[in-house]
Amino acid sequence: MSTQQATAEAGAFIHGAAHHNGGEPLPITNPADGRPFTEVASATPGDVDAAVASAREAFEGWSGLAVSKRGEILAKTARGVRAHIDELVPLLTREQGKTLRDSRIELRRALETLEHYAGLSKALRGAFAPQIDPGTDGMVLRRPLGVVGAIVPWNFPTTLLCNKLGPALVAGNTVVAKPADTTPLTTLRFVELLADGGLPPGAVNVVTGTGPDAGEALVTHPDVRKVAFTGSTRTGERIMALAAGGTKRLTLELGGSDPLIVCEDADLAKAASAASMGRFYNCGQACLAVKRVYVVESVADEVIELITAKAKRLRVGRGDAEGSQIGPLHTARQRELVAGQVERALAGGGQLVCGGGPPDDPELADGFFYSPTVMLEPAHDSPMATEEVFGPALPIWRVRDLDEAIERSNASQYGLGSSVWTADLEKAREAAERLECGYTWINSPTKVYDELPFGGVKSSGFGKEHGEEAFDHYTDQKSVVLRGG
Ligand code: NAD
Repeated sequence: MSTQQATAEAGAFIHGAAHHNGGEPLPITNPADGRPFTEVASATPGDVDAAVASAREAFEGWSGLAVSKRGEILAKTARGVRAHIDELVPLLTREQGKTLRDSRIELRRALETLEHYAGLSKALRGAFAPQIDPGTDGMVLRRPLGVVGAIVPWNFPTTLLCNKLGPALVAGNTVVAKPADTTPLTTLRFVELLADGGLPPGAVNVVTGTGPDAGEALVTHPDVRKVAFTGSTRTGERIMALAAGGTKRLTLELGGSDPLIVCEDADLAKAASAASMGRFYNCGQACLAVKRVYVVESVADEVIELITAKAKRLRVGRGDAEGSQIGPLHTARQRELVAGQVERALAGGGQLVCGGGPPDDPELADGFFYSPTVMLEPAHDSPMATEEVFGPALPIWRVRDLDEAIERSNASQYGLGSSVWTADLEKAREAAERLECGYTWINSPTKVYDELPFGGVKSSGFGKEHGEEAFDHYTDQKSVVLRGG
């Protein structure tokens, strides 16, 4: 058996090695055909203890290194993973369902984020306040928090992990990561490769298992000082309650229902492309996907036609098949959820333009496929407007003007991102100012940049990943008053 298989089957990676345990087996299913193809052992409470103890032990050595040395090690280990990207791509596709192309993009983005933070290691600074009293200076030190629990969902298992690993490790913390119970394989192998590349044992450990078991054991572990969570709002709220015990630090990157607004003066073809790409990428399973479109009446027919044409052209197929542009949804349950939301919205008055169910292709019958769906004018209190739709279904509403679009956009519990398409700078400025969310793209596809902080408001959570700002969430700032003796 290769070490790779051994790590995958062991189900945990602790102190630089596969950790064999007796936990319940978790079947891992290929979303393209609905068939389980392997299983991993889920972590027991003892495994979570061992992983946290390993991270705690490693903390002293890791946090004691020069910051630039930590950056250097991270950059080197990221290069080591990059050399194995061809091995990771099909593994990610097999367990997650996304196309091979999207797996490669995801893995490259994950490594870019690690490299970005490795580079920022030389820019990590505290503050200095000279002469705050006669003969007295003030300093603000940045200190790492200790052991970070990193809990990640299944839609982007590696980028969402690296968004946490980059700033956490460079700031001097050590990590216990818990991937989703349905996508542990790429994470286990990825972290094993980081260790092979020179990351010290215990700096990053992995435990697998379900949220209520391994996840809660990690969140409530007394030696975990911070929980960095990405996932649904419901789970985020549960984790927030659990993290109150022990007064733990918390970052919550939660659900979204991002609007895209098209004004009458926009470049309509580009806006339609951004809407289609933003909604259907990763089969609609992205927190920052475009989930609602509001288009000003005078250009609505043209925009609807452009988006619909794009949706109809998308090739749905197995992630590992040549030419596929959209893979299956991740689980049967996810497909049921999306299908239910579409049905309720149609029953409440929405008009179906295309899609609305699984594709006809008999070759896809066993997988969790769902056709790209466009719907017009569902009720403003329908699931398409009020819930997060985590799949390839896009509602479009006509609005009077930008003002109505902004009001409708803000009438959501979520506040992750938004986009606005207009040639009018004044409208763009007004929208950026008024839209209640953490990120606004103007005339731009919904791409996340390492340089800029990312994170939501309202039910989309709090705290920032990306940007230098992420360091604030992985460090304590300690004030020191210094007076000559
Ligand atoms: P989820 O909340 O069910 O699970 C996410 C992770 O939390 C998994 O690892 C799961 O095992 C774990 N978990 C579940 N219950 C737990 C508990 N009680 N204690 C500790 N851990 C627990 O989310 P999901 O449905 O798997 O993922 C999709 C959601 O993630 C969507 O809502 C999406 O918008 C959100 N998301 C947000 C962002 C962002 O950056 N804001 C990015 C990607 C996905």
